[in-house]
Amino acid sequence: MFIDTFIDKVKLALASSTCVYCEQKLQDGIKFCSRCHEKLGLRQPKAILSSPSCSIHAATNFNPNIKRILYGHKFYNRVEHIPVLSGLLTQYWESLPPSSGFKVVHPENVLVIPIPPHHGELSRIELFASQMARHFGYDYRPDLLSWMREIKPQHRIHDKKTRLQNISQSLYLKSGVISGYEKVIVVDDITTTGATFMEAARAFRSEAASPEETGNKLVCLAVTRVPLGAQIRAAEVE
Ligand SMILES: [Zn+2]
Repeated sequence: MFIDTFIDKVKLALASSTCVYCEQKLQDGIKFCSRCHEKLGLRQPKAILSSPSCSIHAATNFNPNIKRILYGHKFYNRVEHIPVLSGLLTQYWESLPPSSGFKVVHPENVLVIPIPPHHGELSRIELFASQMARHFGYDYRPDLLSWMREIKPQHRIHDKKTRLQNISQSLYLKSGVISGYEKVIVVDDITTTGATFMEAARAFRSEAASPEETGNKLVCLAVTRVPLGAQIRAAEVE
């Protein structure tokens, strides 16, 4: 009896952690306390868009706190935001129901690929996408997707059709790699119209054995979903 209680206490101590955002003590292995969960706008685990070639998810709904974290990371190199960003992806991913198919696959059969940086830019996605992959024991390959040509920044284009034209046929996937994986997660910071993810899905389709293979394997995950027209400039952040 005493031993059982002791073991329970040790288990509890091992499982305890602090909220990634406010550092309040937590006891059930979750990443964010309920207050921060709400503050950061964590979404219910449900795809924003499901198409035959992929499903698109976002961990949070855009809000002033996410704006500050994401743009601080992107434009001001705030390294303290990296665990928060990877924590948001991780917590969202963990909340996906078994029906999503992610609870049954072996971690080594899952691959995480970040959307690559544009020419001359550092990859900001890589820093938190790699942490998320490490958390779950997934494979991580930042070298598989690359830009075939330069595109205009999507956030400067304000209609869906022009965004799709801008990004069409711009991503290239290294051949012969994805066939060994059951699931592939493509990670980006922001999704608005889903155009970048749909272009990634096109690149995957050109490498897949069948269109169904891409649809079954590919999941796109962004930190946040920004409504079209709500894009912000770095100067507005702080
Ligand atoms: Zn908190």
